[in-house]
Amino acid sequence: MNIVLLGIQGSGKGTLVQDLSKHLDFLLVSVGSSLRDEIATGSKLGKLIKSKMDKGELVDTNIVMDTINKKLSDNKKSIVIFDGFPRSREQADELDKICNVDLAIYLNLKKEDALKRIMNRLTCSKCGNITTRVKCPDLVCPVCNGKLTVRSDDTPEVANKRFEQYRLETEPLIKRYRESGVLVEIDASKTPNEVLKAVMKVIK
Ligand code: AMP
Repeated sequence: MNIVLLGIQGSGKGTLVQDLSKHLDFLLVSVGSSLRDEIATGSKLGKLIKSKMDKGELVDTNIVMDTINKKLSDNKKSIVIFDGFPRSREQADELDKICNVDLAIYLNLKKEDALKRIMNRLTCSKCGNITTRVKCPDLVCPVCNGKLTVRSDDTPEVANKRFEQYRLETEPLIKRYRESGVLVEIDASKTPNEVLKAVMKVIK
């Protein structure tokens, strides 16, 4: 079963996959975190990716497809979840060449609420755990004791550019997947637990 997660930045895609992994065995293809891993190596490619990411721009589709194909190459899991992919018509066309999309989960959240969440978001520099300033004001990761940091692209300016890119390039995919009969819309303004329950009902 191939599942894509759609939703504005801050709608809770990362939190959802984090929570789902406690209940379901799946391969996670998270393009954003694979790209951040590449940045962390300090490679030339990583520097190129960082320059795009810090401006709130999409990374080139050929780079994205390389990371995806690498992830899928030795996959043995029957469920694959694509987080933050596809983000454009071009990427959706590329995905169609590799596999069928069985389910598109659309986490629907207003832009204003998404911005509030992004401004509250903390990510562990060691294990990648996603949490909030409200839950962890001491900036210590509750999972691994690592240091919680603010993503370099989680500023109001970059977030607004990412929202615009989402509106122009990613939002049209909602219609595409609705028309192909695989879209399920989830109210992402609910608590993470309520969102998890709603998604589990759809997957099982
Ligand atoms: P995310 O972690 O999903 O919020 O993504 C962070 C950044 O990584 C985005 O703003 C893009 O610069 C890049 N990125 C993530 N997913 C994609 C994708 N599917 N296509 C192109 N760039 C992406």
